[in-house]
Amino acid sequence: MSPTGQKRKHTFIVEHLDPELEDWQALEYNCIFSESQAADSSFLLSGLTSSFDSAEKLQVLQSSKTQQTVEALYPTAEQRQKVCLLDPKAEKDLSPEDGELFEAFLFGGILGDDPPRDRTGDLRKLGFPGRRLGPEQMTTDTAVRTTRIVVQEGRKLEEIEYVDRPDFDVPSQPNGDGKAGPAETVSMPFKYVKGADGKPILPKGMLELLVSDADKDILDLL
Ligand code: SAM
Repeated sequence: MSPTGQKRKHTFIVEHLDPELEDWQALEYNCIFSESQAADSSFLLSGLTSSFDSAEKLQVLQSSKTQQTVEALYPTAEQRQKVCLLDPKAEKDLSPEDGELFEAFLFGGILGDDPPRDRTGDLRKLGFPGRRLGPEQMTTDTAVRTTRIVVQEGRKLEEIEYVDRPDFDVPSQPNGDGKAGPAETVSMPFKYVKGADGKPILPKGMLELLVSDADKDILDLL
């Protein structure tokens, strides 16, 4: 909130940095897009190549996608000072006052790898001022959700409730003989904002994707 009590309008930018557009990533981007619309804030997915731009699984309006990179969108050092990079290596944590300081918040559209490979560094070297969301690595959609709560709702980072490394029961996969296999529990390796129903907020379709990709390492899906 601004001092006048008006909710400020910010732009949330995710720069796609991976060579592919994975299914899990499209679900995260779709989720960020729909939550931004519901919160009446702008979303921009930048750095898309032409093939990803038209990918059917990406349900983001054309006006919220661009093939331009943030380097081209903000060419001068002065313009970059208005954009806050959410950076796990930043020295300062994000605070509600940053909602007044910055017009846009920038995130890396990258894999949540373990140990983190610091690919956010590709954006850091462009000179955007950085803020951290606490010491733990989050998924990109959780990082955007957390940032929105802090800069738009004016809540401090430490006031936000999370569900840490939740377990989900997933429907059993049929065996080769067509009979149901043993029920499985999938443990998610990150923390998630706690929703109004007490459950962790995950992108729509993510659990179904985890079930269908059960043979993949979970860290390759997030
Ligand atoms: N493994 C990646 C790395 O090494 O940079 C982190 C990827 S994280 C899944 C995706 C994006 O979410 C980051 O680029 C950053 O913008 C944001 N993010 C995630 N956790 C964060 C944290 N604790 N503080 C600040 N930003 C964070």
